[in-house]
Amino acid sequence: MRLRIKLRGLVQGVGFRPFLYRLAKELNLKGWVINSPSGVEMEVEGEKGLLEQFLLRLYQEKPPLAQIYSQEREYLEEVGYEDFEIRESKEEGKREAFILPDIATCSLCLKELFDPKDRRYRYPFINCIHCGPRFTIIERLPYDRQNTTMKFFEMCSRCRREYEDPKDRRFHAQPIACPDCGPKLSLLDKEGEVITTGEESLNKVLEALKEGKMVAVKGIGGFHLLCDATREEVVRILRERKKRKEKPFAVMFKTIEQVCLYGEPTELEKALLLSPEAPIVLIRDKGLLAPSVAPSLKRIGAFLPYSPLHHIILDSLDLPLVATSANLSEEPIVKDNQEAIEKLNTLADLILLHNRDIKRRCDDSVVKVVGGIPTPIRRSRGYVPMPIKLPFNLERKVLAVGGMFKNTFAIGFKDTAILSQHVGDVDNLEALKNFEEMVFDLMGLYHFEPEVVVCDLHPSYETTRWAKEFSQKWGIPLIQVQHHYAHILSCMADRELKGKVLGIAWDGTGYGEDGSLWGGEFLLCDYKGYERLFTFRPFRLIGGEKAIKEPRRVALSLLFELYGEKALEMDLEPVRSMEEKELKNLYLAWLKGINSPFSSSVGRLFDGVASLIGIAQVISYEGQAAVMLEDMYDPLVKDHYGYTLKGSLVEWESILEDLIKDKEKEKAPSRFINTLAHVCLEVAKEVGMERVCLSGGVMQNDPLVSKVRELLEREGFRVYTHQKVPPTDGGLSLGQLLYQHQYI
Ligand code: ZN
Ligand code: ZN
Ligand code: FE
Repeated sequence: MRLRIKLRGLVQGVGFRPFLYRLAKELNLKGWVINSPSGVEMEVEGEKGLLEQFLLRLYQEKPPLAQIYSQEREYLEEVGYEDFEIRESKEEGKREAFILPDIATCSLCLKELFDPKDRRYRYPFINCIHCGPRFTIIERLPYDRQNTTMKFFEMCSRCRREYEDPKDRRFHAQPIACPDCGPKLSLLDKEGEVITTGEESLNKVLEALKEGKMVAVKGIGGFHLLCDATREEVVRILRERKKRKEKPFAVMFKTIEQVCLYGEPTELEKALLLSPEAPIVLIRDKGLLAPSVAPSLKRIGAFLPYSPLHHIILDSLDLPLVATSANLSEEPIVKDNQEAIEKLNTLADLILLHNRDIKRRCDDSVVKVVGGIPTPIRRSRGYVPMPIKLPFNLERKVLAVGGMFKNTFAIGFKDTAILSQHVGDVDNLEALKNFEEMVFDLMGLYHFEPEVVVCDLHPSYETTRWAKEFSQKWGIPLIQVQHHYAHILSCMADRELKGKVLGIAWDGTGYGEDGSLWGGEFLLCDYKGYERLFTFRPFRLIGGEKAIKEPRRVALSLLFELYGEKALEMDLEPVRSMEEKELKNLYLAWLKGINSPFSSSVGRLFDGVASLIGIAQVISYEGQAAVMLEDMYDPLVKDHYGYTLKGSLVEWESILEDLIKDKEKEKAPSRFINTLAHVCLEVAKEVGMERVCLSGGVMQNDPLVSKVRELLEREGFRVYTHQKVPPTDGGLSLGQLLYQHQYI
């Protein structure tokens, strides 16, 4: 494989290229490295395992002065380099005036933070030109202290000296601060009364965490709730207070060594954990944490401390901590002090805050290795607002509002897209208000005035309604893009593809052109339009929305479809899980189509299968059943169930029949996933497009994507998956931006 890496940061003039040269040589990788206007660019080619070692060692062994504050990776096809060389530097280009994301505390600052002789010893707001908050403190461009929430702190003479000294690593570090002049901590009780301040508040927080208390801590993009991740009774209290039944919590570990005590990260996952973006990374769990951290899952979301305050807290404890965003069930993450006092008193026993304002909220990002490639699941802190280069120039300035769930929106101009941070589900008025604020905030920041607004096709998405109103108010055209087409456009843009591709868009559900709910689509796409070539045979979602939380409703619907009323007598898990009367009612609803829209969703098929093999009848968050099936996947199981293509339909009749007959239920998840991969291969052969894009929420399923890649690439197809934006609805806005048909 070939890997292209772009690094930004202090990587010039510190012996970085010779270091890379030696490392590449040692690992016998071929390629080149070059200094670019924004950092270092390189390509390395070789065996996948070696490339991953390269990525990890790049962080672990880099020259002491080198600082990496952003990294772009892209896997490409091999070109067959013969040697590794340091190439002539590119011409000094114009430096891009973009706003940087928030960057995890760098190693030099960390050294000072824990050096008792340093004047910033244990100072929770230490930062430098290469690390610290950026996006979450800037009020307007240009990025000067006066334009950030640091404007209220007047620099002391020593900070000013550093700030003005070109040789100092805090030269023009806008958020520069020290204990004499910078932000300070205060510790509040539930009632919002100040208990203590400064270092003393840290001691109290540590004590409280050891005692099993919940502490709200103000971080970079909002408040976290922290508590001991090893004690079941503690995590249970958190679940009760947050009213969050089973959705997994992220865990913050003090070091990569501690991560390895509790989990089994691969080399690549370690590299991601250590990267300056410091995302939450989904890794294999050893089962040593409290079971309620991630109930019945084999993976946990792990991350490392990324602000000095986190470092101080974690360093003084020998405990991994649950670190979940502090908010009331579905509300946005809390970011302001007053808001924290008002809203967090039912959740936290103590509130640790400080007087540096967070200008805009920004949740933690989530990354998962899918089919061997780091795939963003939620792109937010650490990544946003890094620009995404588009495959062509936009004719007009576009605002794309995204979907309704896991929302992000995007602004696009020329060949650049700026995706917003994670907004969340925009499914009520409060959330819509938050969405609108964030839209105007981002537009204001970039002095952006859209000439066209794009939204989903779904008539009842809050974002669709908002976009319609917006287009009227601003007197600009509105364009609606079909959901799954936008998924594929997003993947194409992510991978900078042009021309035609076969897009496989599988997800929960999205509104289709025919008014039914799509979700198992094979689309022939380019930027001008699409053709729906194949889809899964539609089935009813009995009870509509309710079917999302009850996989057994899907299973029953599939059974009714095949066996009619006889299904009610079958000795199967979903049937057994219900009262007779309830079953009859469901059957009648199905028969008459009452509140039971048709859907071709593969996400729901996963649910139906999970119900049939008896692992999930009722779930508490969307996609839970699919993750459970994914966890049960065994790569040694190679066979699959039957399926047929009938006209333009993928027929699941034999999948279901084989599954019901399958005596080895523990192998059923693998066989089902293998079947789906074979369906992809069959369709790809039928269509005959060489390039195949995978997108939609289902495509975060690692074994599925791995299998599809394996089968298709063996037959000469090229498979493209997401690398910059999520395959979920969190990446929709990028796709919407690129839809050109109406205004080329
Ligand atoms: Zn630093
Ligand atoms: Zn100072
Ligand atoms: Fe979707």
